[in-house]
Amino acid sequence: MSEAMITTIGDAVAVGGRRTARKVVAIETRVAEAARLAGRDAHYGFPAHTAPAGAGLPCRHCLQWIEEGARATLFTFDPFSGVENLPLPGPVYVHADGCERYAEDGSLPVHLMKSPRTLNAYAAGRKLVAQEYVEEATAAEAIDRLMERQDVEYIHVRSTTAGCYTFRIERV
Ligand SMILES: [Zn+2]
Repeated sequence: MSEAMITTIGDAVAVGGRRTARKVVAIETRVAEAARLAGRDAHYGFPAHTAPAGAGLPCRHCLQWIEEGARATLFTFDPFSGVENLPLPGPVYVHADGCERYAEDGSLPVHLMKSPRTLNAYAAGRKLVAQEYVEEATAAEAIDRLMERQDVEYIHVRSTTAGCYTFRIERV
């Protein structure tokens, strides 16, 4: 590949052969299933709670908004589990009646940015190297810019207003 050649990979762009392709990683199906079926989370064994959803809850498995009044399961999740040694557990919601996991094809769930999101960009070792506050119009550009940085290994997307973890973006 020549230096000038630009190739589209997924939803991102590789320039001069340097890959900046990304994938969006939702909570694993086995983790969501354990919480909604067993009534406790798979990692800590803390009780999960299922109730009709209020407004503004993103499902961390399908990465869609949970319809108000639909059954939602609230459980404890550590987004660093299996990635880093230092945990940071917190509450997350999934559809209580099951849903299809968000595809890891690099497309961004921009619809979730209707509510402000925080991008926490980490280097390996859970070292926070950048933090940006984004909304629907600014999220994609900010994510591309952060993933261009050599020191950024992955990004955690969180709710800016509630603080809760939403999903992860990592290199392909
Ligand atoms: Zn869902």
